[in-house]
Amino acid sequence: VQERSDQAKRMESLGNLAGGVAHDFNNILAIIANYTDFVIDETRDRPDVQADLAHVRTAVERATSLTRQLLTFTRGDAIQLRDVDLNAAIAEVHAVLERTIGEHITLIAVPAPTPLTVHADPGQIHQILLNLAINARDAMPDGGTIVLEANVATLDGDELNMQPPLPAGTYARLLVSDTGEGMTAETAARIFEPFFTTKPRGSGTGLGLATVYGIVAESNGSINVYSELGVGTTFRIYLPIAATSRSTAVVHRSGSPPRGD
Ligand code: ADP
Repeated sequence: VQERSDQAKRMESLGNLAGGVAHDFNNILAIIANYTDFVIDETRDRPDVQADLAHVRTAVERATSLTRQLLTFTRGDAIQLRDVDLNAAIAEVHAVLERTIGEHITLIAVPAPTPLTVHADPGQIHQILLNLAINARDAMPDGGTIVLEANVATLDGDELNMQPPLPAGTYARLLVSDTGEGMTAETAARIFEPFFTTKPRGSGTGLGLATVYGIVAESNGSINVYSELGVGTTFRIYLPIAATSRSTAVVHRSGSPPRGD
């Protein structure tokens, strides 16, 4: 327990530091982007110069997206809690990925048989699914299959590897699995640490899973990972089912008022 709270403190202070830097850096990047656009506009008769400036613009965009990730990680963005239908969420993320992920990867979405609602920030649920799916893609350079699944799971309170631990009960569960390269036990033990990455310099921030962990923990949920080298990886996320999930959601679907009203 002590070890876990030390880790939480370390994550928090790293997060605060990163958030402060990201905020100031973002403003500087906006200035660079503005002036670059201005000069691109002024050099219409110099395609060679414009080509060079296009590289500057691309680099600025990459840096901006990195700082945006840092800000989200440190809760720089305001979160808004709503009822989020997980079936709709996996369908939307599936649609986004289908357009962007490349033909070498097969994408499968498996919704829960009945509507499944959690009380969370819809943007954060999307972000969790996207971060996990992008890692899954990165683990399958030669192609493979990603499955996004929503279902209901009952825990007896004794599950292994749950971070943080969850009391026994029935939860909404999101699964993201891949048939990729998998990871070693040493890697698996560190993946939720901020800035931990095994990706080449410049391509990984090590913030994707720290962000996922932060969102899940703050939503009173839990996450675990099963991974086998050369076989693949499955992340499971457990979130409390919203109180409205079983009653209201069904009433809305049928369009009739609840009985006994
Ligand atoms: P990044 O993707 O920038 O490296 P993450 O926090 O998202 O940062 O992931 C940390 C590390 O966890 C990755 O560098 C990789 O080693 C490992 N990892 C995450 N997801 C997977 C996966 N689906 N398969 C194999 N390894 C993974």
